Amino acid sequence: MDGVTKTALVTGANKGIGLAIAQGLGALGYTVAVGARNSARREEAVERLRASGVEAFGVALDVTSDDSVAAAAADLERTAGTLDVLVNNAGIGGRTDGGAQDPTTLDLDVVRTVLDTNVFGVVRVTNAMLPLLRQAESPRIVNVSSNMGSLALRTGPVMAAYAPSKSMLNSVTVQYARRFAETNVIVNACCPGYVATDFTGFASSRTADQGAAIAIRLATLPDDGPRGGFFDDEGVVAW
Ligand code: NAP
Repeated sequence: MDGVTKTALVTGANKGIGLAIAQGLGALGYTVAVGARNSARREEAVERLRASGVEAFGVALDVTSDDSVAAAAADLERTAGTLDVLVNNAGIGGRTDGGAQDPTTLDLDVVRTVLDTNVFGVVRVTNAMLPLLRQAESPRIVNVSSNMGSLALRTGPVMAAYAPSKSMLNSVTVQYARRFAETNVIVNACCPGYVATDFTGFASSRTADQGAAIAIRLATLPDDGPRGGFFDDEGVVAW
């Protein structure tokens, strides 16, 4: 990077893919704001990042709370003043017991809960951080989605709350990209692949670092990079 330190906020950065994205951006020279709702887990992640040589600090952030998100934006404005990168990584799968995500017995409370984190949370955080992002020279927003949200691929187990939440996240990403078309703000969605984290019960050989790579790539796109797309390691993911 050029001599000026850039700041990146990663939501849900206390573990899994989010922590790996924070680590990767930190290794590239970004100062990383670790957005996490649990203070002990947040500070533990900050310590881990610092121990590996990354400039990191914690930001209390529950993406489902308007108050928490507003306080996080105020906190970042005080400490950093500007934001170069926002990675909306925080996400949940939602309960599946008792047919909760079988479409024929779908628990609408589960749908609401999943949408509140995976979609409304992204909108909440993005809009709260926009004034800070607009201060940056080349702002980048990355929404961590999933190929389970691809209407074309129809991959993974039937999960009628989680998969549509990622379809909607993809659609919202496109709306933001259209809105930002004439600006320097670049927004894209990515799929990390099937990664060994708490989310999947570590039932994969793909590491969090491998899953983080595409988000890091999109967070560091040049000014003529793609906008409003959906990407994984292989390139474009079908909508
Ligand atoms: P993970 O290990 O379960 O981590 C999820 C992170 O999100 C945790 O830090 C969690 O914090 C945070 N989070 C959840 N709700 C939050 C809230 N309301 N406010 C703030 N943070 C919140 O899962 P992961 O596998 O790393 O998943 C990260 C992202 O990748 C998700 O968006 C997921 O949908 C996506 N993804 C994962 C896979 C995969 O195979 N793992 C595949 C495709 C897409 P707590 O520790 O406080 O719960």
